[in-house]
Amino acid sequence: MTTTAEAPTTIHRLTAADRCDACGAQAYIAATVGDSELLYCAHHGRKFEEKLRAVATEWHDETDRLVEAK
Ligand SMILES: [Zn+2]
Repeated sequence: MTTTAEAPTTIHRLTAADRCDACGAQAYIAATVGDSELLYCAHHGRKFEEKLRAVATEWHDETDRLVEAK
């Protein structure tokens, strides 16, 4: 019996030191655009998600941590 086939889970790599580029709140979303990484809080991540996803090569979402914290 093995459980090696684990479902991919979000790796939580953002910390309290990572701040939203728009408002300075703690960042929960990171979008890689070109050579730079943009950080956003849950609010601004959602707000810019549609536009960002169109250009981002990577989308990192840790907003599930907010749900867990409730
Ligand atoms: Zn923000």
